[in-house]
Amino acid sequence: YWLAESIKNKRFEDQYDLGKELGRGATAIVYKCNAKGMDQAWAVKKMDKRVENKTILTEVGILLKLDHPNIVRMKEVFESEDYVYIVLELVTGSELFERIVSQQFYSEEQAATAVRDIITAVEYLHHHDVVHRDLKPENILYENLSQDSKLKIADFGLSTIVSNKVSLVTVCGTPGYCAPEVLKGEKYHKSCDLWSVGVIIYILLCGYEPFYAENEAEMFKKILKADYTFDSPWWDDVSDNAKDLVRKLLVLDPTKRLTATAALKHVWVTGIANKKTHKE
Ligand code: ADP
Ligand code: MG
Repeated sequence: YWLAESIKNKRFEDQYDLGKELGRGATAIVYKCNAKGMDQAWAVKKMDKRVENKTILTEVGILLKLDHPNIVRMKEVFESEDYVYIVLELVTGSELFERIVSQQFYSEEQAATAVRDIITAVEYLHHHDVVHRDLKPENILYENLSQDSKLKIADFGLSTIVSNKVSLVTVCGTPGYCAPEVLKGEKYHKSCDLWSVGVIIYILLCGYEPFYAENEAEMFKKILKADYTFDSPWWDDVSDNAKDLVRKLLVLDPTKRLTATAALKHVWVTGIANKKTHKE
């Protein structure tokens, strides 16, 4: 179907022992697994082929080539009659979202460090013409449980791959992070990821969503107008640099949004980077 005949003969079940469930999203369940006879643990994303489409072949090809410290690495792919098994580097820290909840909010320094990791990964993806389109805290994982753990994007663009068949609502399982042009069903570009980054930064700084509303219809309306505010008192102590970056990302016109490369050069991000360097 998708993979070379030689690979097709290898069965996931023959090579790996399946472990406990690690998490699930709109398209897959992710389990821990062990290569038989080996100590090292991996994660495996088991995807039902019935919800996929042919573009997966091309996309898996791209994903196999991705190699970046802030992107969960893919080891190998198996295919059975009904499923595709994507074996991934196992990350053991929590989802970004879980840390936000457990800490209520991040210090600006923590936020900027996290944001630098995220945008670095996005810059790399965009450089390889991969648009993630589903950047949200559940898809961004800490490598380990340490306080200074790096972040990794886990759901590296698979949403983009399955987008043709999955309905818009499924793809934007959390419309709160979806760029207005994506919500409208317009052609999307790399810049839609920077909108999502803007939403994530907003949440990291204040602990709540920029387009929060009682129901989805109201939320859509707000997103389509980029209708958000830096409310008092929650934003009173947030730096002007941080607000400036959010303002340059939550921009309706995709062509006027900062690119990943430009965002990495923003003073709020570089300021923290410099501080870190001085400490080391
Ligand atoms: P979906 O495409 O269905 O959203 P994801 O790739 O986002 O699937 O994986 C679903 C969940 O599984 C993630 O939110 C995360 O909690 C967990 N997960 C994904 N990849 C890994 C990994 N490499 N190591 C550990 N947990 C993972
Ligand atoms: Mg996901």
